[in-house]
Parts: sequence; C-alpha cells; structure tokens
Amino acid sequence: MRRWLRYGAALWLLLSLLLCLPALAASRQPDVPIVHIVRPGDTLGELARRYATSVEAIAAANDIANPDLIRVGERLLIPTSVSALPTTLPGPLTALRVSPQLPVQGETVTVIVEASEPVSLTGSFDGRPLRWVAEEPDAKDACRFWALAGVHALAEPGLHPLLVEATDGEGQRWAVNVEVFVQGGDFETARIVLPPAASRLLEPELLRGEQERLAAVWGQSSAQPLWQGTFVAPVRPFWPITSAFGQRRAYNSGPASSYHEGVDYGAKQGALVLAPAAGRVVLAEALTVRGNAVILDHGAGVHTGYWHLWQIFVEEGDEVRQGDPLGRVGNTGLSTGAHLHWELRVGDVAVDPLPWTQAAMPCGIAPCQKRAVT
Ligand SMILES: [Zn+2]
Repeated sequence: MRRWLRYGAALWLLLSLLLCLPALAASRQPDVPIVHIVRPGDTLGELARRYATSVEAIAAANDIANPDLIRVGERLLIPTSVSALPTTLPGPLTALRVSPQLPVQGETVTVIVEASEPVSLTGSFDGRPLRWVAEEPDAKDACRFWALAGVHALAEPGLHPLLVEATDGEGQRWAVNVEVFVQGGDFETARIVLPPAASRLLEPELLRGEQERLAAVWGQSSAQPLWQGTFVAPVRPFWPITSAFGQRRAYNSGPASSYHEGVDYGAKQGALVLAPAAGRVVLAEALTVRGNAVILDHGAGVHTGYWHLWQIFVEEGDEVRQGDPLGRVGNTGLSTGAHLHWELRVGDVAVDPLPWTQAAMPCGIAPCQKRAVT
C-alpha cells in the first residue's frame, strides 16, 4: 500500500513537470478587530448594522450596561473582524494595498499592486473582473499597477473577496486571496409618486431593453485612463443636490424596489451640462426611461452618464476635455421636473460620483497624488 502511495506521488510529480502545472500560492491574511470612535448621532443599533454584528455583541465587548447610552468620542471595540492585508506576498509580488481600507457601500476602491519584475495581472472584487493599469516603473525597477473596483450600494456589510493573480514572463502564476470589509452606508428611503403616463415607463420590457443597451456600453472601455486628477461637478456655478446617490426608492406606494444610481442636481431647464473630466462620447441619443442621454467613457472601466437632457451637443465618438459642454438640462424620459441625473460607473457598478469631485482617483498612490493638484 505504502509503495503504491509512493508511486502515486512520483507519478503526480512527473505529471506536474510534464504538464508544467503552475505553482499557485494562495496567501491569506490575519483578522484584526475594528475600533470605532463614537460620532454625534451614532447608536449601537446603527453601528451593529454598519459593521454586520449585533447590539448585544458590541455591548458585551465594551461592558456597556445601558445600550442607549454611548458618548461621543468614546472608543468602541467592534467584535467583527476585518481582514488585514498580508505582509508577505508570493513570488514577485511585493505590495498589495487597498484604499480606503474599510470602504462604504457605493464607494470606489483603489487596489494597488507592486511587483519586483514585470507581471501581467488578472483578478476580481466580489466576482467582478478588475481592469489593471500599469504605472511607469520607478527608480528601483518595481512595477506598480492599480485597478478600480466599485462597491455595490446594496452589498451586504461584511467581508467581500478580492482576488489578485499575477503571471510572470515565464508563465508562472501566483494568487492572493484577501477580503475587504464593506461598511453599511447611511441611505434614506424616498417615496416617488408618478403620473399614470410615466408609470407605464416602469413596465419591465421597456426597462429591460434599455438596461441591456446600457450594459453593452458599460462593458466597453479604453484600457488606459483618459482623465487625470479630480473630476469637477457637471453643472456650475452651483446647483443644489436634490437626491443623493444610494437613496432607496419606492414607486407609487410599493416597497423599496431600487436605489438611486446617481446624483440629482436641481438645475433649471437649459442650464449647461459640462464634462467633469476628459473622455470619449460612447452614447448620445434619446432613451425611453433616461430621456436624452449622454455617456462618456473615461477609460480604465470608468463611465459617466447624463440623463433627462433637453439638448445634446455631442455625438458618439467625440473626444471631450474637462469643462466641454455636453448638452442642456431638461425633463425628458422618466422625470418629474427639470434636473440633471449624473451617474458614475466603475465596471457595471454605479458608485457615488461626489468623492470623485473631492479627491483625485485612483487614490493612495504617489503618481495620482501628484496629479491631484489641478
Ligand atoms: Zn436621478
């Protein structure tokens, strides 16, 4: 029996050599607890939801006798473990960073990988493929790459898988599996009453057709980023935000069936809509639900969309720079008054566009910080 086992092992080794089976090393990271500093308005119930744990567990971990009494500035140990990134990485991989470390639902995550030699990368966040962009090798001959990932607005608070796979010039592969802790966001629920004519636009066939058309657009993107630095708001000088990203929505007394996939600016009919960053026009046409619509491809899997326009100034294929006019604010499609709906997608995931107007993306790497000053 032992002899057969020995033969079996030898045969497997031989097969491995003959088939050139790649050495696939998976690296797992240790768990670390979350420390939360209590902010005004925090309650244990809200913290339990955000960190995917229970009021009782937080109370027990911090010796809290009365769960209704927590103080602003108090340090709470949240008994949910988040996974720390691994300190040792396999093969030529030398660094793996994720920024922000504890993203909130609807946020954009930058994944940064460094290697000691040129590698080609694949990988995924939450099962969705990552598009890698190579930075110029620095003086130490390191190779640095980044990819953006959108955290879905309805992603369950808790751990979500991030997979990075590297292949070197000889075809040898290494894999790193880590988990990113997603925090619950703070979203309100809106009830929207639509007139009967507009209600007909909610019919599934109409929604599906347009959805498929857009999915094809989100799926195509220039490999290299066409933008640099921080985005600007698409309407200026200042128009109030009338509906925030991520707001849960209930139509005509039904349950909350969807969420707001962009930001609404309460701009007047005819106000100019400007490109928030450089890109290429990949859609400029009338849609049933979204009305007169423009979509820009900014490269690296990033798109922005502008719905309900009155006029469109651009055509498919046009290259635009930051600040170029795209059209005018209107009230076309499924809309109850003149406003601009502005949407930003990373891959096919709608994320909150406002952080893109506050800091340069990708974030957390030196070259992008240099670009941030615009
Ligand atoms: Zn909207």
